[in-house]
Amino acid sequence: MSHFARVARVPGDPILGLLDAFRADANPAKLDLGVGVYKDAQGLTPIPRAVKLAEQRLVNSETTKTYIGGHGAPEFGEHLLRLVLGADSALLRDELAGATQAPGGTGALRLAGEFIARNLPGRSIWLSDPTWPIHETLFATCGLKVSHYPYVDASNQLQVEAMLAALAHVPQGDVVLLHACCHNPTGFDLSQADWRRVLEVVKARELLPLIDFAYQGFGAGLEEDAWAVRLFAAELPELLITSSCSKNFGLYRERTGALIVRAADSNKLTDVRSQLAALARNLWSTPPAHGAAVVASILGDAELHALWAEEVEAMRLRIASLRSGLVAALQPHGLGERFAHIAAQRGMFSYTGLSAAQVQRLREEFSVYMVNSGRASVAGMAEQRLEYLAAAIARVCN
Ligand code: PMP
Repeated sequence: MSHFARVARVPGDPILGLLDAFRADANPAKLDLGVGVYKDAQGLTPIPRAVKLAEQRLVNSETTKTYIGGHGAPEFGEHLLRLVLGADSALLRDELAGATQAPGGTGALRLAGEFIARNLPGRSIWLSDPTWPIHETLFATCGLKVSHYPYVDASNQLQVEAMLAALAHVPQGDVVLLHACCHNPTGFDLSQADWRRVLEVVKARELLPLIDFAYQGFGAGLEEDAWAVRLFAAELPELLITSSCSKNFGLYRERTGALIVRAADSNKLTDVRSQLAALARNLWSTPPAHGAAVVASILGDAELHALWAEEVEAMRLRIASLRSGLVAALQPHGLGERFAHIAAQRGMFSYTGLSAAQVQRLREEFSVYMVNSGRASVAGMAEQRLEYLAAAIARVCN
């Protein structure tokens, strides 16, 4: 008897499949706009200097590799809370918010999903249409019912009115996932006025927001990107936030992130956190230590903190200039206006508005790789390749 005989094969992650195809492509002009990692002008995903310096210090100062606690390293949690909620947040002074360290933003989302499934039974989770594909599968894996609200439509425009209208009909008490900034996959973010309107609906329907904060520092700036998170945390007694250090600290493979809980009083916060520690025990026992130690030593040291903030800002500005550079390169092809949204979007990704057929032609004729939805990873572009890319786009658009 074969135990595995009836195990079927599932298709691999389409984005990783794209990466394989890119690697196998012999065309020296090939361009990878698929995978969501930041690349510098040389096409490398650098380790920030602040991270390297912190790592060197850690090698010398670390005395043990014993387990860290269920909520992770306390100093990591404290620094991350200040980064997300603001250094002078009243919530921290009043002990109304706590961080539970998790393996990356994905781990934090999984912990949130398990918490909702077990501790808030019967609640559905509402995701933007479209959203990061892992949101769809991750929450379903937790056993949650996944529903959607409109966000960007087929004409590639942000649909704020439709979003608000849909949220107004979400059953009372359900969970609504919101992207804090740098919406993945579209790059379209809500304005401050839009956020205030979403907040009103959330209050009216008594929804529980789960804010996914994976790109702090890549939109408008480290503090600016936290604006909506801080508004919601100030205005609502209860809130979940997932924070990822993968992109802004360049710590991708170190799996560093946290689930932040804001509760109405410190007693209830302790109750909720006890559940999170119990859930985490069955998921990963205790979280990986290295990335969190790096983050804590950067944020806890004025000099390293300043260096890191400069490095994040440099990445942010470079992505913004790639966005405007691409639109400028499309101008001579008569496509500047059609693709002007690329410069206005934020973060690592852009819903370009290219069709699946156009994406396929880009791949086959020009070795330009992006996902079929027309999502391009702007953070994977290179200055010296923008004209090639613009010319390729022009060919498939005409
Ligand atoms: N949320 C969103 C929207 C993301 O795009 C990502 C990373 N691609 C994550 C969460 C999780 O990131 P990580 O697990 O690598 O920290």
